[in-house]
Amino acid sequence: MENSESASFEQNPEFHVADRCVFSSSFDWGKSRILNQETLSSAMDEDGNEESVADSMVCDSGARLVPSGFANPCCTEEIMLFINAGATALRESDSALSEFFEGGDTFQTEEFIAEGGEFSFIYQSARLGDFCYRIENLLPGDYFVDLHFVEIINTYGPKGMRVFNVFMQDEKASELIMYSFWCFIMSKLEVMLLVTCKLQSSSMQILSDFDIFSIVGSNKPLQLVGARVCVKDDGSLALRFEGTLGSPAVSGICVRRAPKTSAPQQNREYFVCKNCSAETEYPSAQKKVLQAKTIAKYEKNIQELKDMLQRKSDECYQSWMSWTAANEQLQKVRMDLDKKTFRTYSLDQTLEKQADKLRDISSKYENDQKSWKVAINNLEQKVKVMKREHAQLSREAHDCADSIPNLNKMVFAVQALVEQCEDLKVKYNEEQVKRRKLFNQVQEAKGNIRVFCRCRPLSKTEHVAGCASVVDFDAAKDGELGVLSNGSTKKTFKFDRVYTPKDDQVDVFADAAPMVISVLDGYNVCIFAYGQTGTGKTFTMEGTEANRGVNYRTLEELFRISKERKDTCTYNISVSVLEVYNEQIRDLLATETSKKLEIKQASEGFHHIPGIVEAKVENIQQVWNVLQAGSSARLLVLIM
Ligand code: ADP
Ligand code: MG
Repeated sequence: MENSESASFEQNPEFHVADRCVFSSSFDWGKSRILNQETLSSAMDEDGNEESVADSMVCDSGARLVPSGFANPCCTEEIMLFINAGATALRESDSALSEFFEGGDTFQTEEFIAEGGEFSFIYQSARLGDFCYRIENLLPGDYFVDLHFVEIINTYGPKGMRVFNVFMQDEKASELIMYSFWCFIMSKLEVMLLVTCKLQSSSMQILSDFDIFSIVGSNKPLQLVGARVCVKDDGSLALRFEGTLGSPAVSGICVRRAPKTSAPQQNREYFVCKNCSAETEYPSAQKKVLQAKTIAKYEKNIQELKDMLQRKSDECYQSWMSWTAANEQLQKVRMDLDKKTFRTYSLDQTLEKQADKLRDISSKYENDQKSWKVAINNLEQKVKVMKREHAQLSREAHDCADSIPNLNKMVFAVQALVEQCEDLKVKYNEEQVKRRKLFNQVQEAKGNIRVFCRCRPLSKTEHVAGCASVVDFDAAKDGELGVLSNGSTKKTFKFDRVYTPKDDQVDVFADAAPMVISVLDGYNVCIFAYGQTGTGKTFTMEGTEANRGVNYRTLEELFRISKERKDTCTYNISVSVLEVYNEQIRDLLATETSKKLEIKQASEGFHHIPGIVEAKVENIQQVWNVLQAGSSARLLVLIM
């Protein structure tokens, strides 16, 4: 490369479309020192495996790792473009090609790059992080992609600090992904390990777990040369850098035209996953190695997981056993605790009850105390009052004793008076008996049979008819009644008493009232009214409600006097109502009318009618009701 080209690289570092004349002349990739083959022994892994570490990283069987910088190109293939990745400035290309990148950061260094070749500045910058490049407007066909790497950041290592994968295009490639799931189910003491192998379609991987430092160390270029890629009709080429540990880094990307090769028809081979029976195609010899290695790695992982599973199972079993023992112990403790809790609870209950009782008693006691205090205060007040009264009485007693020296005499005198009073009571009773006897003798003296004559006033009808009274009441006070005959002759009648039309019910009863006392003294008394119909018998005996007659008033007096005498005598009063009509006796209180009644004489002065209804009465209202009943029965008979 000429100086002008070198300057061009420096000025537009990130992206450069190479002059096809210059690049297409002389770089012989085949003669370059190829790490994959020549440095095989030097790149042995630590376990002494003969397989190169670099081999396991390169996925494309046609690609090689070259541990030197981009120098003096003499390659036969046409270089389409060169990207100086990680440079700061950007310049638009004159070419029809276009590119863009996505993600990542840039990094530059001034450090010397050993074996950096003619364009060692390429390696003094890099793009870092997970990123991708997309180059557009390429002619469809096959291309070689060369990637230029160098570790310029972590120059002291260690290995494995930057491990990444590189994918190219969006072609379908097989990638074995293994998922492992641990599932512990403690209760059943089962441990399950599920391993799933999955084939995923993605971009073609050209570098796997690529670690620059582990191959060439730091500040030394490392090229991946000749990764073959096919650009389809869309003319685009994609490169994706994806970190496994740390972030990917790339310093340069070179795209070259690849000569057309007739692709031999390969017999497709498949391997079957032991775990998931998934079939995976062997795409190439190198991939075969790689996949076999990956499978071995995963199988190793599976075995490790299985071992771990066994260990975990054992641990689980042990844990389960100890847990069971602990659980039994816990159950016992829990039962003890339950018992104790129950006992505590019942004790609490008892205590609560006792406390309640105590509270009741104390409140009762307090109430009692209060009431007692009040009572005591009252009593004290009363005692004070009583003391005062006592003192007063004492004084009065003293006064009395002083004023009445002959108190004993007085007591004797009072006793004598009491005796006298008793004697007087006896005498009073004797006198009462005598008085009754005398009273009744007076009544008898007045006549055992007394005849009174009552003249009613002329009725309205009689007045209207022009009737005039023929009775002369001039000597009525002496019990004499004169009846005028033919207007001149006068016939005189003599009675015990004559009631003129002016005499009312009260006047008539005044003569009957003493008879009530005789009745209650044990004498038989009979009052009956005699006269022509319409002369006033019923009016005299019964009267009206507003103007009661002899019957009612007599019985009223009977109850009054019996009440007065209730301390000395008990009276049973009964009422019978009968009618004598046409010499026939009819019981007006009887319910059976057919019964025949007769008046019988039991002894001298004592007559009775066997079978007559005797209605017991205790007050005047009952008497009135009975009389009304009798009166109604009589009216009924009259109507019939
Ligand atoms: P008797 O029972 O004798 O057949 P009453 O008692 O039925 O007669 O009396 C006949 C009428 O005369 C009744 O209307 C009654 O009110 C009236 N009568 C009777 N006596 C008196 C009197 N002293 N004063 C006013 N009216 C009387
Ligand atoms: Mg009558």
